[in-house]
Amino acid sequence: MEYRVYGKTGKEISVLSFGAMRLPGDDDEAVAIMQRGLDLGINMIDTALVYGPDGRSEIMVGRAVKGRREQVYISTKNPLYEHTAAGWRERLEQQLTNLDVDYIDFYALIHDVHLDGFNEHFKNPGQGLEEAIKARDEGLIRHFTFSSHESPENVHKLIDLGLWEGMIIQYNLLDRAYEDCIAHAFESGLGVQVMGPVAGGRLGMVSDRLQSVITGTASTPELALRWVISNPAVVTAMSGMSTMEQVEENCAVANNKGLLTAAEQVAVAELLEENKKLLDIYCTSCNYCMPCPQGVGIPQVLGALIVEKVWGLTDMAKHHYAHIVRGEDKFQDEVVLAADACIECGLCEPKCPQKLSIMEQLKEACELLGS
Ligand code: SF4
Ligand code: SF4
Repeated sequence: MEYRVYGKTGKEISVLSFGAMRLPGDDDEAVAIMQRGLDLGINMIDTALVYGPDGRSEIMVGRAVKGRREQVYISTKNPLYEHTAAGWRERLEQQLTNLDVDYIDFYALIHDVHLDGFNEHFKNPGQGLEEAIKARDEGLIRHFTFSSHESPENVHKLIDLGLWEGMIIQYNLLDRAYEDCIAHAFESGLGVQVMGPVAGGRLGMVSDRLQSVITGTASTPELALRWVISNPAVVTAMSGMSTMEQVEENCAVANNKGLLTAAEQVAVAELLEENKKLLDIYCTSCNYCMPCPQGVGIPQVLGALIVEKVWGLTDMAKHHYAHIVRGEDKFQDEVVLAADACIECGLCEPKCPQKLSIMEQLKEACELLGS
């Protein structure tokens, strides 16, 4: 396992860390898979108060690190439910109790921070920030971090606040929106923890198209993981693991295969560039063509086609397509039909700014993804 220095903290963190948001339902199994990860070289576990009911994920993490606390870095996050300093402190104390520890190593002061929320509800007198600084002085928190799904522009601004030592951000082969932010965080001396390295499981499915780029890649998640950790600005990829098999596989990748070679990185970059061009000829989900008088869910159907044609994730594309409702689901706000309901009236195509041959693409989706 490779260990990387976490920004200015100097702490050395395993390139693969354990994301504890999708633990198995059985408590003993949840603890066992985290401990197996630790045995195989992982030294960071990331959790949050809101993962699982009543702080379950944190409670399981606490059990997993029992007896080896000093060898493991715990990362967790305080949700901004309400805005007073006292409320923030109460949640921190709850988390320390859940984890059954005296301190938290890496603490996202706000789970999924928004710049506006930070400015209005956190940084002012009587709000959470003053309590956070106090808690750090008391030794309850070692390092401040933040997690965010904000616009990249605002993430840049958050980094520039100079308040944090680390950042938790989404990054994977399908979503590179924060690539510049990751570089900026690295240059600013922050450690970068990546969430969603296999795109919340989407890259957990087989893609011959992706795998064919790197010969000898055993699986799509392997490629996805190796690609993320090949970015030197990333300290650790936090993979949400829920089975012993995933732990064994991911640790084997991190321990034995490691980074992509320079040539492999070029091959993946070329594929991503090609995909970008392909995306230009597919639906952007702008919805301008809707509603279809026949009720066809045009953006939904064409979205499934993208998953197939651009990413080669056939099982995932079929799964999406199969879930496009056939008119009988009364619980959906918007009931849409699959491509086979199209009668080729032609009303949608003139409304499409992409000038897509919508009817052709619907037919293609029907052929490739319909049962
Ligand atoms: S061509 Fe098909 S998808 Fe387009 S509006 Fe007509 S029925 Fe709907
Ligand atoms: S108008 Fe074109 S790009 Fe927009 S949702 Fe419809 S098909 Fe997709």
